[in-house]
Amino acid sequence: MKESLKIILRILFGTDQKRLIDIIQKKDYKIISFDIFDTLIVRKVGKPEALFQYVQRMISDIDSNFTEHRKEAERNIRNHLEVEEVTLSDIYHEYQKMTACSRETADFLMNLEKKTEVEICFGNKDVMELFQQCIERKIKVVITSDMYLDKEIIKTILANAGCNEYQKLYLSSNENASKRTGNLFRLMLREQGVEANEVLHIGDNPFSDYLMPRLIGIRAILLKNSFHRC
Ligand SMILES: [Mg+2]
Repeated sequence: MKESLKIILRILFGTDQKRLIDIIQKKDYKIISFDIFDTLIVRKVGKPEALFQYVQRMISDIDSNFTEHRKEAERNIRNHLEVEEVTLSDIYHEYQKMTACSRETADFLMNLEKKTEVEICFGNKDVMELFQQCIERKIKVVITSDMYLDKEIIKTILANAGCNEYQKLYLSSNENASKRTGNLFRLMLREQGVEANEVLHIGDNPFSDYLMPRLIGIRAILLKNSFHRC
């Protein structure tokens, strides 16, 4: 989905983060599902591309065009995708082929990206407050994310932001099912044994966090982007 269309949809349907607590007070949901990036968690540097630039500054002697190579490797993998989600290992395997670097170099860069990702992520204050309210009110919370990072890294990022007491982390790279196709939501409903209309999902992507869950019958809140550090 084009960035301009996403902005228009956020303006039309987006909800201010400060209003989130009012919304959950008005209805009993059996489960509240949270997206991760730009919802519970925010990167200090903004978009993923800025993370790659940040890494490039550290390793310019290894690859002075790292940002472009990293983006191209992911694009190549996604263009030939036979499964629902790529993993970071897939991306760096492609990077190694593209740049003809050694396996050790590709592994070093992949681990540096993971380490940097952990360091630059922080909790998004208003959404984390809502998360804590759900826990206090004994509302079941799940986390549902389309992401190439592996489960252990995501768990570390969440734990660093104080986000521990969730029922289950549904991660596309781990489940090979994505929010984009709706299959990750369907898996979550099946596993948690709830009807779609008993669930509220909160996220920032107009398609995969708002239109897709609504098509399945899940209530959804689309966040307007304004972040505050915890
Ligand atoms: Mg997101």
